[in-house]
Amino acid sequence: MKTIGHLIGGQPSIEASRTQDVFNPATGEVSKKVAIASKSTVEEAIAAAQAAYPVWRDTPPLKRARVMFKYKELLEKNADKIVAMIGDEHGKICHDAAGELQRGIENVEYACGAPELLKGEFSKNAGPNIDSWSEFQPLGVVAGITPFNFPAMVPLWMFPMAIVCGNTFVLKPSERDPSTALYLAELLEEAGLPAGVMNVVNGDKVAVDTLLTAKDVKAVSFVGSTPIAEYIYATASANGKRCQALGGAKNHAIVMPDADMDNTVNQLLGAAFGSSGERCMALSVAVAVGQDAGDTLIAKMKEAMVSLKVGECSDKSNDFGPVITKEHKEKVVGFIDSAEAQGATVVVDGRNPVIKGYENGFFVGATLIDNVTKEMDSYQQEIFGPVLQVVRVDTMEEAMQLINDHEYGNGTCIFTRDGEAARYFSDKIEVGMVGINVPLPVPVAYHSFGGWKRSLFGDLHAYGPDAVRFYTKRKTITQRWPSAGVREGKSFAFPS
Ligand code: NAD
Repeated sequence: MKTIGHLIGGQPSIEASRTQDVFNPATGEVSKKVAIASKSTVEEAIAAAQAAYPVWRDTPPLKRARVMFKYKELLEKNADKIVAMIGDEHGKICHDAAGELQRGIENVEYACGAPELLKGEFSKNAGPNIDSWSEFQPLGVVAGITPFNFPAMVPLWMFPMAIVCGNTFVLKPSERDPSTALYLAELLEEAGLPAGVMNVVNGDKVAVDTLLTAKDVKAVSFVGSTPIAEYIYATASANGKRCQALGGAKNHAIVMPDADMDNTVNQLLGAAFGSSGERCMALSVAVAVGQDAGDTLIAKMKEAMVSLKVGECSDKSNDFGPVITKEHKEKVVGFIDSAEAQGATVVVDGRNPVIKGYENGFFVGATLIDNVTKEMDSYQQEIFGPVLQVVRVDTMEEAMQLINDHEYGNGTCIFTRDGEAARYFSDKIEVGMVGINVPLPVPVAYHSFGGWKRSLFGDLHAYGPDAVRFYTKRKTITQRWPSAGVREGKSFAFPS
């Protein structure tokens, strides 16, 4: 059986002292093994990145950007292969995987602007005959630790920008779907990136802890669940590293009484059940304002959900695929059980779907739960499955209070025809990414991505302009070239 290994200093490596099973979630069968890196393997990768740093740091930004132009071409040329890889290990439907890859490629396109992004700031005559400028210098070796749910897009949020800024990189992808990240790194080599600038180590907590404590790792970008994000941020910070750690979510949609209900239902279907709800921006709670809006929403959702198709990734007619593991399926089903036991109404029940030919797959059908309240476990915690919960309230203020009181603040959306209500909502809501009749307000590559509250630990968001700040340190230089023969006098006053 194939073992997915590492890429260190431009060389494939399989350290097999420990391995872990990789499943095909649609069949439920083990399809590969993944090598779990030891501390010394990770140290080797960090050393390779450190060795490649001095030359890469001094490579002109234009030349670094040229690698990214070529890389974009290679990603597009090999898109079908990447989509199939994502499908095999993650299970997401091919058109969804293609969308994920496209959003990742847009980050590569942004990185192609490196010479412009790194231009810095200049002030002539900051004082008499004095010029001053600020420049953005790379940090050194930086690390990325990524989750299972976007095996292509989330790594692509990180390393293209880190690398064009002049850093070298060590990526630790999710051990649950490791092939894609390794292949993305191999394509970078093909695009002409010097060996050692990009390294991949597969592994678990041992690999992560080695990255978090290594002296030569200067910054850590993390995306994953909130408890781990908090641990990563605390440990990286305690070890003197810059860190951004993006965590979990509970994204609410407010459905106002004046919303176009057919459109709202169409938007909610994709946003709640797309990718089996395994998106950090999935809309998992609909807050219906007023009895009529709640009743209409439930009736129309119930009707629309009849035609949803769950199944295997390569069948384009399917709407979404399995969840990632058997354990995760049990967790999602457990949340539906607990909501029911705590008094909610399961309107559409996806706990036991039968998918012909894939009876052992980790499938959960689309589930709709009504009369959910804020005390319920299924409301408080992230489910990360194809489950839409409906909470009913009387006013928009009540709906907003619910969202503002939740520990997460990643994404949210309001469905309404009222511009005044929408403007008030976007201004006052305590959430980092807001949609107005846009269910998945994932920022484009030239903005930055990040939630508020316990959805993000750190100051800078992912990708876009914030990535230039995160992956560089500012240096400000003040210079004077006195004219020949002119001597400056002594001064003991603070320069002003
Ligand atoms: P996870 O936290 O289990 O794993 C993320 C990474 O951390 C993996 O590489 C994993 O190997 C590593 N890891 C896991 N346990 C660890 C430990 N104890 N110590 C050190 N490292 C550890 O997350 P996941 O299940 O892979 O991904 C789903 C989660 O990610 C969800 O909570 C989702 O909301 C979140 N997510 C957030 C965003 C965002 O932008 N905010 C984007 C995608 C996913």
